[in-house]
This record gives sequence, structure tokens and C-alpha cells, in this order.
Amino acid sequence: MDQKIGVYICSGCGIGESINVESLAEVAKEFSISKCENHSALCDLDGIGLIRKDIESGDVNCVVAAACSGRVKTDEFSFDPMTIILERLNIREQVAWCQPAGAEDTQMMAEDYMRMAITRVEKSTLPKPYTDATNKALLVVGGGVSGLQAALDAAQAGYSVALVEKEGELGGYMLKWHKNTPSKAPYTELEDISTQQTVDMVKAHPNITVYTGTVIEKISGAPGMFAVTLKNGGGTLQVGSIVLAAGWKPYDPAKLEHLAYGKFPDVITNVRMEEMARAGKITCPSDGSEPSVVAFIQCAGSRDSNHLPYCSAVCCRVSLKQAVYVRDQNEENKVFVFYKDMRTPEQHEEFYKKVQKDGVVFIKTDTSKVDISEGSERKLAIETFDELLGEPVQVEVDMVVLATGMQPSVLDDPILNLEYRQGPALPELKYGFPDSHFVCFPYETRRTGIYAAGCVRQPMTAGRATSDGTGAALKAIQCVELTSQGKAVHPRAGDMSYPDLFITRCTQCKRCTEECPFGMYNEDEKGTPLPHPTRCRRCAICMGSCPERIISFNNYSVDMIGSMIKAIGVPEEDEEKPRIIGLICENDAFPALDIVGLNRLQYPPWVRFIPLRCLGSINLVWIADALSKGIDGIVLFGCKYGDDYQCHFMQGSELANTRMDKIKETLDRLVLESERIRFEQLSIDDYHRIPSILEEFTSRLEELGPNPYKGF
Ligand code: SF4
Ligand code: SF4
Repeated sequence: MDQKIGVYICSGCGIGESINVESLAEVAKEFSISKCENHSALCDLDGIGLIRKDIESGDVNCVVAAACSGRVKTDEFSFDPMTIILERLNIREQVAWCQPAGAEDTQMMAEDYMRMAITRVEKSTLPKPYTDATNKALLVVGGGVSGLQAALDAAQAGYSVALVEKEGELGGYMLKWHKNTPSKAPYTELEDISTQQTVDMVKAHPNITVYTGTVIEKISGAPGMFAVTLKNGGGTLQVGSIVLAAGWKPYDPAKLEHLAYGKFPDVITNVRMEEMARAGKITCPSDGSEPSVVAFIQCAGSRDSNHLPYCSAVCCRVSLKQAVYVRDQNEENKVFVFYKDMRTPEQHEEFYKKVQKDGVVFIKTDTSKVDISEGSERKLAIETFDELLGEPVQVEVDMVVLATGMQPSVLDDPILNLEYRQGPALPELKYGFPDSHFVCFPYETRRTGIYAAGCVRQPMTAGRATSDGTGAALKAIQCVELTSQGKAVHPRAGDMSYPDLFITRCTQCKRCTEECPFGMYNEDEKGTPLPHPTRCRRCAICMGSCPERIISFNNYSVDMIGSMIKAIGVPEEDEEKPRIIGLICENDAFPALDIVGLNRLQYPPWVRFIPLRCLGSINLVWIADALSKGIDGIVLFGCKYGDDYQCHFMQGSELANTRMDKIKETLDRLVLESERIRFEQLSIDDYHRIPSILEEFTSRLEELGPNPYKGF
């Protein structure tokens, strides 16, 4: 591409009062550019018209718009990305609004940012989108309520759907259930289950092909071009994206010996209770008699560090429902519920109150012991301590129902059997659920184009699992649509870049194939990476991991960021103007900088921020280059990591922190203080911490004195 760079500088919104835009234009003119214009309101019709006129005349094909944040006015600053390279240089929120107006250091900051922005454009090329993956059919795995809804919604939106169910019939658990908990006002009455109607609609829909009694042998390929092989000669399906709605399995009651499961036949699970109610009669397994006193023990294996540490979300409501079954069978029947906490969110509180009023007895307790009642052959005794009365209690009952929890069905079975270098299963989040980010991206797994819905994603009610099917179907549709246009999915939705490997210099070290959080690379037998571009989320973690520095993007590369660092002016030691580079994650921390500006908070003028796709894309050479150039300190701002992580690329922030050890080795080699580098985890609402972090870091650097490499 023959670059023709146009630089357009806005002086509106207080920029002109803070920065000398004429001097700023002179800095731009030091570069090989075609045009440089100042304008009093670049985002208005006249300002945008100025840019468009230069584009249309052929004078400009790269635009540097030095104005407001790239997160605002996106409609105004919108040019054809296939022909125009656009760089939004934020001199409003990140210079004029967070630095003293008219100060020399404010001007120096704006001028450095101008050099960095033009350098970034110089190192960019136009995208060449990958458009070979055009299959828009969907595979839905699992024929329970989530899978049925996902299939139906996608089919009704016009997409071809293959629905694979391992059982002989569609419908999942819901077709074994007797009643549903209330879902509509007044939220007190049990409801009939309508899953059979949905099953009938799915079977009748012309866009849906149902495969029952079938499991998946393997899945190869990538979004827009998955090949799905069914077991037992079921053939191969070609699909573009996948909804995994494989559901849940009850926690294994055999592990609940402490609650006497398996010891006494009249200790049963809530699943067994539901099946009996559906069959028409609740009876004691020991002798077939109808129980007149029934106890429910909540959190049977849930919220218990020896079993399931989490709350299974639905068991309290299920026990309330089953208490109604017992009372409906005979209004003289007595019901006791032993609970740690009754969890009945939303309007289900109304149902809870109704069951309480109906005479069901609730006993708050932490642990219960179940044994045979003294002097009885069959009756059971529950001994516990009533925390509200503050005294021990003993209750004799005919039957005990354990409210066992939910586990994702993928726990011991990869189900999808992916032919990925990183393994056949979906990587799990905490507790074995394959969601990728429960804060920001529900449904997304760590395998691009595969979306989890319903109880395989987290414990939930049938109502929520149904709407979850809709959500996952929409994500799967977004995926096939974006992929077919050569665009990335969330969080860099629309990005048309993808990793380009200079493979002849690859040493087969396997760092990229191991560290990509999304399993983009398979490997050949020697360990050479085999890219699958549509699996890529464009985080550039592989770029940061490659020791040979041979992975780059058309608009993001090791050379580009390194050149931007080199474009920063480093004053002489006696000028007492330290320089700090802020390598900052574009997902949370970089937008937080805009909020600093919006709130007119100020921070030291010595910092130059460079947004990174993910902190995991940091290449150690940037740190070494910056320090050897005389930069006094480097601050890394990444997302929070750990179990409740917010890193948008799962492991990037954590990887960057791990690489700190290597950075420290580099510093030792350069005989530099490792305190010159700081790593901070930051979420977007931590914006107010930024000024104090930078002030404190600046003070520490002052104590350390200037970088001894300054001036070399
Ligand atoms: S850019 Fe990210 S998602 Fe893409 S291959 Fe590299 S590490 Fe994987
Ligand atoms: S990290 Fe670089 S050198 Fe190592 S396998 Fe990947 S591309 Fe090759």
C-alpha cells in the first residue's frame, strides 16, 4: 500500500485552549505525510467533510484524527476499513482534559502522542480478511429445554440446524418431571410442563434435522468450517458454529453416605421424587406404602467443601415444589425442610411464603444426621440442631429426600471430542463449567464458535435454561455471520486482522500452540503451528509468547509497538523530566483513562500510554528496548485475574504477570532496578486509582534517580 497520511487536528472541546495545535501540526509535518489540517470542531459536518474530500480526491488513504477518544463519535469517524487506515489519536480525554492547560509538559505529551500515532499508521497495512469459512449452519448438542429453544430460535431466524441428542427422545429431564415451579403471577401455583409442545415444534420445523440416539465422535475444523463426525456411521455434518446444551447430571448420591443414602431405601434423591410424582404416586421404596411424614434435606452435597462447593441454585425451589406434591397427595401429610439458607430469588419468594403458610415446617440447621428410628424397623430419625430455637431437635419421618445439586454433564465426558491440539474438551471455568467469562461474556467458551447454554454453563432453572438457549443461539448466529465476512467475534468484534506467521523462522518451540487461550493452533508432528484463523480472537497473546517474534497482524506487531516506543522523545537527565511508558490493556484499563479525563482528574505528565490488545501480547523486547533507550519506568495496567478474573482473553493478564519474572531477569542483565517496572490490575471502575498509582510510581522513580542508560 502506498501510504498517503492525512493528519487532522481538532481544537474544539477545550483542546485548543490546552494544546498549541499549530505546534502540534509542525510535529506531524516532520513525518512524510500528505496533508495536515487544523479544525475547530473536527466531528462536525464541515470537519468530517474535510477528511472525506481528501479521501475522495485520492490525496489521503490513512487518517490520523487527533481529537476525542476513539470510543466516542464512532459514527462520525467512520471510513471504509477495507481502503482507509484510521487512527484515532485521543488528545482530548487523555491530554487536554487530564493535564494543566498551556503547560510545556502538556504540549510535550501531545507531541509524543502525535509521533506515536503517525508511527502506528506507518507500520499498519490494510486488512486482508480471511473469507474461506462461510458455512452458516448450526449444530446444537443436547435436546433438553436449552437445546430445543436454541434450535427452534435459530431455525425460525432462517438458519439450518442439526440437533444431536444422545438419548432416544428429545425433551431431556423436563419430560421426566411432574410440574414446574411458578413462572407467572401470582407466583404461587405449580405449572404444567410444556416441553412436549416444543419438542413437537422442533421435530416439525423444516430447518431442523434431529439426530437422536447419537453422539459425536469428533469435531475438526474451525468456526465457519466445522466438520462434525457422528458415531456409529451417522455421517459427517458441516456446520459454522455450535451450541453446547448438553445439560447437567445430578451429584452422585452414592457420595452422600453421611446422609445415609444407600444405607436405608427410604432415603431418596429429589430426582427420584420427581419421577415418582410424575408416575402418579409417591411411595416409600422399602415397602411401597405412602409416606405420611417426609423430610427434605437441603444442600445435600452442595455448598460443602467435601462435595460441591457451590450453590446449585434450584434445589430449594425444587424441594418447595415437591413439598406441595406430598401435601397434595394427602393433606394430612407432614413435611419438614432442613435448610442452611432457603434461596428463592425473584418472585419465587411468593411461592416460598405460600408453602410456609401451608404448614410445612422449616428448620434452619447446618448438618443433619439420618439414622433408623430407635425401636423401628423402617422409620427414619433426623437429628440436628435448630439454629433459630437454639436447641437440638429430633424428627421421625417415613422418607428423606436429599436435595442433591447439579454438575455440568461435560465433567467426565468431553462430549464434543474436539480435534484441537489443546485437547478434546472445552476448557473449564471454576467447578467444571465451560463458560469463559461469567462477568462479561455469558455463553462464550474458550473455543471460538462454541457457545454453552443452560445447565452445562451454570446451575439454573428450566425457565432460565430456556432463555439461555435463545442467548446462545444468537451468539452462534453472530459468529457465523461475522466469520463469513472475515471478521472476529467478541470482544474484538469486526476486527479483520489475524496472526500472520513468518513460518520459515519458526523453531517449533510450541509456545504459541500452548499459550493461545482459544486453541487456535493445531500442530504438525514436528510441532510447527497449523493456524485456524477463524478460531482466533485476535488477542495477540501468541505474538507476545513467540521468542522468534515471527507472529504479527496487519495492524499490530512487535515492530509497531517497538517503533512507537522509539518515537517517544526522552529528555536529557538534567531536564528532570522523567519518562514512563504505560502499556495498558485496551479492554478495561485504557477506557478507564478516558474516565479519568472525563472527571478532569490529573496525573503526572511524564507518562505515555500505549494500548495493547491484551497485556498477554507484551513482548519482552519492548521492555528491553524502552529501558535501554533511557525510559525511566514502565507501568503495566492489565485486567484482574484469578478465579473471578476479568481478563477478556482469559489468561493474558496473568501471563503478563508471569512474564514479569523474565522481565526482572532482563533488568538484572541490564543492571537496572526491577522496581522500574510495575504491574497493576485494574478494572474499569478503578479509574480513580490511576492518578495515585502514577504519582506513587513517579515518586519511587525519583528516589531511584534517572535511568542510567539515558543519553546512551
Ligand atoms: S491472537 Fe490470540 S486467539 Fe489468536 S492465535 Fe494468537 S493467542 Fe490465539
Ligand atoms: S512461538 Fe513462534 S517459534 Fe514458537 S512455535 Fe510458535 S511461531 Fe514457532
